[in-house]
Amino acid sequence: MAADDKSHKLETMRHSASHIMAEAVKSIFPDAKFAIGPAIEDGFYYDFDLPRPLVADDLPAIEAKMREIISANLPFVKEEISAKEALKLFADQPYKVELIKDLGADKVTTYRQGGFVDLCRGPHVKATGEVKAFKLNSVAGAYWRGDEKRPMLQRIYGVAFAKQSDLDDYVKKIAEAAKRDHRKLGKELDLFSLHEEAGPGLVYWHPKGATVRQIIEDFWKAEHRRRGYDIVYSPHIAKVDLWKISGHWNFYRENMYSPMEIDEIEYVLKPMNCPFHILMYKTQIRSYRNLPMRYAELGTVYRYERSGVLHGLARVRGFTQDDAHIFCRPDQIESEVKDVVELAQFMMKSFGFSEYEMMLSTRPEKAVGSTESWDMATEALKNVLEKLKIAYHVDPGEGVFYGPKIDVKLKDALGRLWQGPTIQVDFQMPDRFDVTYVAEDGQEHRSVMIHRTVLGSMERFFACLTEHYAGAFPLWLAPVQAVIIPIADRHAEYAGKLAKEMRDKDLRVQLDDRSERMNLKIREAQLNKVPYMLVVGDKEIENGKVSVRLRTGEDLGSQDFNDLLVRMKCLIESRELNKL
Ligand SMILES: [Zn+2]
Ligand SMILES: [Zn+2]
Repeated sequence: MAADDKSHKLETMRHSASHIMAEAVKSIFPDAKFAIGPAIEDGFYYDFDLPRPLVADDLPAIEAKMREIISANLPFVKEEISAKEALKLFADQPYKVELIKDLGADKVTTYRQGGFVDLCRGPHVKATGEVKAFKLNSVAGAYWRGDEKRPMLQRIYGVAFAKQSDLDDYVKKIAEAAKRDHRKLGKELDLFSLHEEAGPGLVYWHPKGATVRQIIEDFWKAEHRRRGYDIVYSPHIAKVDLWKISGHWNFYRENMYSPMEIDEIEYVLKPMNCPFHILMYKTQIRSYRNLPMRYAELGTVYRYERSGVLHGLARVRGFTQDDAHIFCRPDQIESEVKDVVELAQFMMKSFGFSEYEMMLSTRPEKAVGSTESWDMATEALKNVLEKLKIAYHVDPGEGVFYGPKIDVKLKDALGRLWQGPTIQVDFQMPDRFDVTYVAEDGQEHRSVMIHRTVLGSMERFFACLTEHYAGAFPLWLAPVQAVIIPIADRHAEYAGKLAKEMRDKDLRVQLDDRSERMNLKIREAQLNKVPYMLVVGDKEIENGKVSVRLRTGEDLGSQDFNDLLVRMKCLIESRELNKL
């Protein structure tokens, strides 16, 4: 069976499960009003208007009823009836009545199974027995038609699969995802926090999270310098007038914070770094020989996101983009985009992401600039992907208002996709700011701008990294690389000496000289996912050795201290991802 047929079949089965769930709910709440019940990724939901709010404890009874309906193997019977008949049939179902009226058709179709009939265009499975492996997983509030002025309904989510083993795999994957949730690990490993009382979506990087971020930033900076970028800094606010020139004020305002007045002039927090880099570029006349110029900045920007979509570090209101703007000649676009794609691939590989998906996003409805320049920019991006033989999908209308883009989605250890690098070719902003270079002909010509990030944002990338490694960061990224554990108080001084020696060698080490039992200290270090635990007692002091345990639970036994340092340094310098 083709993959498409298979997914269509699965979707039909999932949607059928939603009808079965509706029948089950009706048998428990005879007065229930029914809204809609579509299939979704992995499962289905149905929205109900019920006499009381549902709780998770209601689900087992609904599930049990569903199993009865499934084992009765009731046929799904399709019927075509006139809209008039349908209005009569669903007279006590206000949401269905609204749907029928909105359809405006003369005839509608219904599906009946057992004692339950629903307005539906189908398709459905032949009989309820075809729904094999399902599970109801949650209840949530949902506004009728997503409109907060309409009634709040009760939504039950379920999952359904072709066979039990698929459902079991899914349940396992969800449990694993919950274990790896960066919000949970952020607390447990003391990496970061968010403070509702100080403002949602604003991130506080604790020492351990900040350490990982610094290592990423140092690596990022060094790699950019190596590849011909100049690192710059720019302010956090600018006059509204600047954002009017850039087009943000007209095309991006709903994502920007309200202006603040300074000396009777309005300023806003920056949602992007682009205009600032343009101002720096424009401080001198640039010759064709100077191009390309590449300004890179870890620029902190602020964007308004609805509070409902904020999610840990993955969706925030203040974040640091690993941004850069390349100013180049039109004939340099392709080679520059190619270099950026390769840099992005190198960065992803360095952090352990070998699989990703590329999307080419084209002109959105709200956009500046001519169709020709959009076509040219889109063509350039496409050519690079094709020349590099990178498979990609087209995402129509998902470009930014000033240009098309390549979006890279990283695949994490659980196969989930995360928004990563982006690359945008832009002819518009150089036009709006009159950005030029002097060409060989001695005349001023329009420069082209490439906007790009190779990680995305520090916040989201860190969230992704945390979940990818379940908090057990590779040695080169680990906030604490080793804990030294003296067995008794009399070993503390020696342990302190070792700690100092490691720090002098730029290793991140902690001395755990609390008067606790050794096993407890080892257990804690393991929970904190510290790669190495070095235990020292009488024997070790005598031989200049340390007893080495790994966070994996592996016991390496007695090791020469200096050999261990060489081994650690070697793994760190090669940015080893798996080995300890
Ligand atoms: Zn249906
Ligand atoms: Zn930009």
